[in-house]
Amino acid sequence: MRRLWYAAAALTLTSALTVGIGGPAHAYCSTPYKWTTPSAVKVRNGAGIPTPWDAILTASAGQWSGISGSTFRMTAVARNFNGPIYGGSVTHGASSSHRPEAPGVTLISRNGNTITSVRTIFNPRWHFNDTGSFNQSSNPPRADVRTVLVHELGHWLVLNHPSACAGAMTASEKASSMNPNFTKKWNTNADDKAGAAAKY
Ligand SMILES: [Zn+2]
Repeated sequence: MRRLWYAAAALTLTSALTVGIGGPAHAYCSTPYKWTTPSAVKVRNGAGIPTPWDAILTASAGQWSGISGSTFRMTAVARNFNGPIYGGSVTHGASSSHRPEAPGVTLISRNGNTITSVRTIFNPRWHFNDTGSFNQSSNPPRADVRTVLVHELGHWLVLNHPSACAGAMTASEKASSMNPNFTKKWNTNADDKAGAAAKY
């Protein structure tokens, strides 16, 4: 079983002009890895996640569920959910895959091109809030948990950062949840949704 990792890399947006009009959504330039049953993915909060964040997980998972044109459904289940988990967990703790500048990391386990489980881990170096505020240069750096969750859960669909894709980012890509720019983004936007629909 091999693992991929993705991190919310520190991204410095330059003031480069966007050349051209529109263009294809790029957030789904990605790998061939897929869930076998994308309509039944479950996510639950695990170790180190405060109980009040359960509702935030539910809302964040909902941002990737029921998107027009997409069969993907992600349901947040209780921590003590006893049935089989076809999905994975969100935890808080050190990971060798964390980049120091990234508040979260998502690890994908797969068998060939088939995803078997996914785990998102919050970086304990960061302090988290639920108010939408970010300060990546404070000590400790601070991040909004919901923005990070919506972003990391997008990686569960194996959506990528638009900056990793070919071509200049469109305005919609810049504003997407999949663009990690330390700005409050609680809702998936048109580019995120286009990615979800293209992937599933
Ligand atoms: Zn990311």
